[in-house]
Amino acid sequence: DEPSEENLVEILKLVYGYDSFRDGQVDAIKMVLAGKSGVVVLPTGAGKSLCYQLPALILPGITLVVSPLVALMIDQLRQLPYVIRGGLLSSTQTPEEASESLMQLRQGGIKVLFVSPERFLNEDFVSTISSLSAISLVVIDEAHCISEWSHNFRPSFMRLRASLLRKTLNVRAVLAMTATATTTTLDAIMSALDIPSTNLIQKAQLRDNFHLSVSMVRNRMKDLLILIKSPPFAEVQSMIIYCKFQYETDQISRYLNDNNILAKSYHSGITAKERSYVQDLFNSNKIRVVVATVAFGMGLDKSDVGAVIHYSLPESLEEYVQEIGRAGRDGRLSYCHLFYDDETFFKLRSLMYSEGVDEYAVNKFLHEVFPADKSSCGKICSLIKESASRRFDMKEEVMLTLLTRLELGHVQYLQLLPQINATCTL
Ligand code: ADP
Ligand code: MG
Repeated sequence: DEPSEENLVEILKLVYGYDSFRDGQVDAIKMVLAGKSGVVVLPTGAGKSLCYQLPALILPGITLVVSPLVALMIDQLRQLPYVIRGGLLSSTQTPEEASESLMQLRQGGIKVLFVSPERFLNEDFVSTISSLSAISLVVIDEAHCISEWSHNFRPSFMRLRASLLRKTLNVRAVLAMTATATTTTLDAIMSALDIPSTNLIQKAQLRDNFHLSVSMVRNRMKDLLILIKSPPFAEVQSMIIYCKFQYETDQISRYLNDNNILAKSYHSGITAKERSYVQDLFNSNKIRVVVATVAFGMGLDKSDVGAVIHYSLPESLEEYVQEIGRAGRDGRLSYCHLFYDDETFFKLRSLMYSEGVDEYAVNKFLHEVFPADKSSCGKICSLIKESASRRFDMKEEVMLTLLTRLELGHVQYLQLLPQINATCTL
């Protein structure tokens, strides 16, 4: 019989000392205990490990955890509650260490075994493991490594397919876990592991009180000033402006102060004392704007930030999502604007109009603009092609491309954001 939710909470208290489950954990645990395979997409720090640790403790057989990095495996092994006996098998071990682990496994001394994906290429390993006690669960951590489109694709993860796990190893359930998954990556994970789309557990990563807008920069600082002095930004009391470079934050902060907008810059080039001084001024509403690099925001505890402006493109969509997430924690509608610079625009334009559309070049370029997300490049290319043949205004096209990229690449974000208003300010 599968334990009830009350039973699970009791076990949670006993084993971990926690009072309650976090969002998504119970769903994942129940799914696995019912013998179903699934995918768990939860942000870093949300508590994904517990989703396999508890089932591993309860299920009769062993649990294999596949992880892309030995360091991650060692970390997770250390974090196992003491009642769950763990072991490790990686390609960096000596043959003696490896056979020691296997012996322990054979004698029933290991409940959770951490293995590197390369192990599954080894016939000996596969036959040994399949002759052992039943494998109740295989966990694939950082499962986005399965997708060729993901930024850290690992060819050895390709071996981890439903046919091997279900048929050869006779595994009862497979649990794929990741913090970052575009729709393309999710599709790849689910088809490789033969997981039905209904078995996806994904919790909101973003609130729905953002108004997003994008515009091309013509005259950098002036454009910024105009934006801040126009509604709705003019009415916003506290805002953050993100820049790529430290010197930019100083320059913009000076410019804003010259224009009667109280601002301070924040980056890792100033002392810790100055940094906490700026944060205090911001928290107590003594300044209106913090002009910062990526260094600002972690541990920021201010709920009424009303706007986040990106003066330059963030390094990745993940970074973007994290940074706009600092606005509107009080639940009020907040405004997020992203400036798209001329250089990027001209580069993209020349790629689009030199000799038709060079898909490879556009792909490469988009990858440079958003290094952490390759998934939607193909779709973007065909969109550019399409719009090029329709002879849209070029600027509009670039805006559309960027917005479409935001939409296509991260459909799941938009699904979480029903009220999103991706406006195009030209
Ligand atoms: P992830 O793998 O999703 O990044 P972890 O599994 O490493 O996150 O968990 C992050 C932290 O949250 C750990 O310190 C873990 O002990 C803690 N944690 C997990 N679940 C709970 C819970 N239900 N209550 C309190 N803390 C939890
Ligand atoms: Mg983890």
